[in-house]
Amino acid sequence: MSTNAYKVLVLPGDGIGPEVMTEVTRVIDWFGENRGLEANLDHDLVGGVAYDKTGQPITDACMEKALNADAVMFGAVGGPQYDNLPFESKPERGLLRLRKDLELFANLRPALCFDALTEASSLKPELVAGLDILIVRELTGGVYFGEPRGIEDLGNGQRRGVDTQVYDTEEIRRVCRVAFELAKKRRNLVHSAEKSNVMHTGVMWRQEVHKLHEEEFSDVELQDILADNCAMQLVRAPKQFDVIVTDNLFGDILSDVAAMLTGSLGMLPSASLGAPDSAGKSKAMYEPVHGSAPDIAGEGKANPLACLLSFSMALRYSFDRGEDADLLDAAVNDVLASGKRTLDIATPTSEKVSTTQMGEAVLHALKTKTS
Ligand code: NAD
Repeated sequence: MSTNAYKVLVLPGDGIGPEVMTEVTRVIDWFGENRGLEANLDHDLVGGVAYDKTGQPITDACMEKALNADAVMFGAVGGPQYDNLPFESKPERGLLRLRKDLELFANLRPALCFDALTEASSLKPELVAGLDILIVRELTGGVYFGEPRGIEDLGNGQRRGVDTQVYDTEEIRRVCRVAFELAKKRRNLVHSAEKSNVMHTGVMWRQEVHKLHEEEFSDVELQDILADNCAMQLVRAPKQFDVIVTDNLFGDILSDVAAMLTGSLGMLPSASLGAPDSAGKSKAMYEPVHGSAPDIAGEGKANPLACLLSFSMALRYSFDRGEDADLLDAAVNDVLASGKRTLDIATPTSEKVSTTQMGEAVLHALKTKTS
């Protein structure tokens, strides 16, 4: 392995996290052996398992490794046995610290509809067949963090709850820059969603995105859309979109709407990116959208595809290997088309497979596609 090998920190976490991550590491090995991917894997603990061993949901030493990694592959954290821990010790704090310390301000949530799963969508198949959109959500600013915030006692039995929506120029520009850059690698269209009709931050968001567009990305098509209309359009005609960029609050909601166009939680990948350094490399973490699924943990029932598709995003965005990402996506598509399904996406006629069997089916499809 050369010294240029990518440093990948693998954090399987709790519940089904280790089960799905095992399949991911097998696929990473396959890309190493067959496609020349040079990746050095280091494993560590996060979440409840880290708390059990060290008394903390993530250690400083593990954070240090994450800061030095080219990509972090994260499984899932949490479980009922940790529900009553103090706030600072909860498994989820490990995830939040990673996002905060790595300064991952851009959250990428694709909504990709595999042909074999069009029937699983709550929309008509023709509306979602071939769907491929990407929501870029601002992750570290906006109303979830703005000050002042809190609940105030006004006396006379009255209280006041306050949250503050606040954005600075650079917070808007850096996430919109990510969206424009990604659009250039896709279908070259960005919709910017805000509420400039009723919110000052919305007015400023619209002005800043246009300024950036003029200065750096005039070759990309930019369209403004009000966030409420965006929600309607996502369920009316989702294929009109390519990349949607939006703030933290609207992104939270719109990305869940978009994700559900495509069916099961076990199929949804995500990526979170930080600012590029002088060499153009961004800190990055890749994780399935689902949690640790304690109800099925240890039973071999978990669908590993969300985590595998998260690795496909790592191939595309951290390792600049778009062709390999396409290959992995196509292998997943072939496996689904062959009728193999974990229980969460099974139909009465499909062949039910375990987590390991699904991982093996993807490896087999990769071999078939490249032989
Ligand atoms: P969950 O996503 O773990 O599970 C919701 C439902 O979906 C369950 O019925 C589960 O069996 C099913 N499911 C989820 N992933 C699946 C997969 N890959 N294959 C098949 N079925 C799958 O959400 P929850 O039950 O609300 O939370 C469980 C724990 O996970 C909690 O402790 C929660 O805090 C934590 N959580 C962690 C993350 C994360 O680590 N990013 C995200 C969400 C929830």
